[in-house]
Amino acid sequence: MKRREFIKGAALTGVATAAAASSLAKPAIAQGKRELKMVTTWPKNFPGLGTGAQRFADRVTNATDGRLTVKLYAAGELVPPFESFSAVSSGTADMYHGADYYWQGKSKAYNFFTAVPYGLTANENDAWLMHGGGQELWDELGAGFGIKHLPAGNTGVQMGGWFNKEINSLEDFKGLKIRMPGLGGEVLRRIGAAAVTLPGGEIFPALQSGAIDATEWVGPWNDLAFGFYKVTKYYYWPGFHEPGSTLSVGINKGVWDGFSKSDQDLVTSCAYAENNYMYAEFNARNGDALDTLRNKHGVVLKQFPDEVMKAIGDASGVVMSEVAKTDEITGKVYKSFIDFRKKALGWTSYAERAYMQARLLPFKYSD
Ligand code: CA
Repeated sequence: MKRREFIKGAALTGVATAAAASSLAKPAIAQGKRELKMVTTWPKNFPGLGTGAQRFADRVTNATDGRLTVKLYAAGELVPPFESFSAVSSGTADMYHGADYYWQGKSKAYNFFTAVPYGLTANENDAWLMHGGGQELWDELGAGFGIKHLPAGNTGVQMGGWFNKEINSLEDFKGLKIRMPGLGGEVLRRIGAAAVTLPGGEIFPALQSGAIDATEWVGPWNDLAFGFYKVTKYYYWPGFHEPGSTLSVGINKGVWDGFSKSDQDLVTSCAYAENNYMYAEFNARNGDALDTLRNKHGVVLKQFPDEVMKAIGDASGVVMSEVAKTDEITGKVYKSFIDFRKKALGWTSYAERAYMQARLLPFKYSD
């Protein structure tokens, strides 16, 4: 450092020190520190989802040296889980960690920022958000509610769900009371099921009491934690409804706009870090959890018949095209998403799909 710059820097430090000393008795915010309330839709420290939300909160606190100290409130601690969006929109809370398809009552467009039936995988969804115009549309959607959204977690491909009877044809969905949120639930309603949305913490009691006959939640790791195997027998795959669910943080727009550019970048980086870290954790833990479910708890693993998957695909297409007409922003999001999906399907044929198939060929590789 040149001498002149050093003197200038020392002078500035002196001013800052004097300012800090004069504000010792003032609240934290006057010293440039701020506590942010983050509500979540997850039970406290629930594996992957709750712990991921906590990790994001801690990352922000640490990355900003406590300038932004994020305090997490689990589902129901400050507001009920499904009130999280309104709490952030109104400023009761500063941010939430949740799944944006829970807010489809505000705009159907929110479904596309978690997962839609037969939509994008985790990798494809990130590609759309970060490089395909998705984030810009999310910003436009969120601006209408005073919220800035960022991706902050992913579950990967989810399981089809837990059933007390075999699913051999579409007929088996008729009258079935099943917990399935988002557009997946709407698709099942079209084929005759009675689909409901329940927050995670309410699923097990509903299943146990018979209020619902079946449920989806996430995948082996999370489903094992809730203990669904204690009351249901069949565990179906794959989950058509959530091929790579993005979890998100929503930040009150006034709070977001009040951040310095540096803090905006730090918060964005922390969200991206958790987006990736959580996805890796689900991929790492699901395999072991599936073994435990099958071998320790006697869960029967079943694949949905192709005929059922195809019929659900047809119903999904109808629901998606109807949803596109619900409002202007949903139409814009739908078009961007569907255009990107076509491109993703094209590239995947030569990349992931082709490689996965090749890897399954019967060659000798290890013992
Ligand atoms: Ca789910």
